Amino acid sequence: MDLDPIVRLSRRFGADPDYVLAGGGNTSQKDGDTIAVKASGVQLGTIDAAGFVHLSLSKLKAVFTIELPSNSDEREKVVLEHMLAARLPGQTGRPSVETLLHALFPFRFVVHLHPALINGMLCAQKALDAAQTLFEGEAAVLPYITPGYTLADAVRTIFETRRQSGKSPYTILFLQNHGVFVAADSAEEIQARYDSIFATLRAKVRALPQEPGVHDSLSSVEKATIEKIRTAVEEATSKFNVTFFFTLNSVVGHFLASSGTFLPLAAPFTPDHIVYAGAWPLFVSQSQAQDPASLQEQIDAYRALHGELPKILAVQGVGIFGLGKDRAAAERACLLFTDAAKIAWYAGAFGGAHPMESADIEFIRNWEVEKYRASIASRR
Ligand SMILES: [Zn+2]
Repeated sequence: MDLDPIVRLSRRFGADPDYVLAGGGNTSQKDGDTIAVKASGVQLGTIDAAGFVHLSLSKLKAVFTIELPSNSDEREKVVLEHMLAARLPGQTGRPSVETLLHALFPFRFVVHLHPALINGMLCAQKALDAAQTLFEGEAAVLPYITPGYTLADAVRTIFETRRQSGKSPYTILFLQNHGVFVAADSAEEIQARYDSIFATLRAKVRALPQEPGVHDSLSSVEKATIEKIRTAVEEATSKFNVTFFFTLNSVVGHFLASSGTFLPLAAPFTPDHIVYAGAWPLFVSQSQAQDPASLQEQIDAYRALHGELPKILAVQGVGIFGLGKDRAAAERACLLFTDAAKIAWYAGAFGGAHPMESADIEFIRNWEVEKYRASIASRR
């Protein structure tokens, strides 16, 4: 299979932060009974032909006809084994759990992404209504379902219903609190569909607040205060062997005015946000943040409640500190939290932010976390 078209398409989206952050998303191309899906450990922005794993479409889809364990943990294990067995001879790459969704589209190309603009609609109170109304006829819209076999089976059912209705297959699949799948037989149509979704949504949302120029001060907070807070954070987190990374931009700043304005960011929007930026940020006041003892108290209370260190420490009116095992992880936490802030901002056009439900958060955090992390890794 000549993978040039999907390589070019993947790189184009992968290099654009409006579409892809921290390795999220995946792409595929079909030819006859073969599907090539982006493999484990590969970034879309720099992918080449070797970054795809080749599988038999018919073997992959046979998973919907076999009897599966009722226990979801065991079921996902069997499904993963089934997917690995569907690889063509000599293929060693690891397909992600989202491979089944790619396989279900009767189109040559599929590009699955989690763009902030689109998630602004999908992580809003009126997500399902808005997606149905704005993209009537061409898009399937699903409420949140845990990634994996259950989601794939739900998608299979709505695609089958559509097929039986005699209408043309869906080219767009919107997943609440997750992201979008776009499918087409040509790379140009994929691009055109994303352009059209973006144009439709841009006409609905408020543009992000402008970053101030070099001469304006982004924060009215004194430099000395920020330094004091930095020292306090360093002191309060030193015993945990973590690195921190400071970020302030206009969109995050908009939510940092008070604990009230911060509310839309108090709970996670998608599984990606949980994995990279933690389920819940810790919001502290400026005075708490300047005093190491008081900051320590806040962090201890957070740990007692959630059993882990926060990945985001948000300081009222100042900025956010990403905490991670290394600088890359700390920076990624800030990147994903900034993404969440954009989502919350855009969600204002659709009835306001709608975080994941508590049970779904817990599911990703505790029970499914290791497997999900593996699936995330396979999407890079
Ligand atoms: Zn996804």
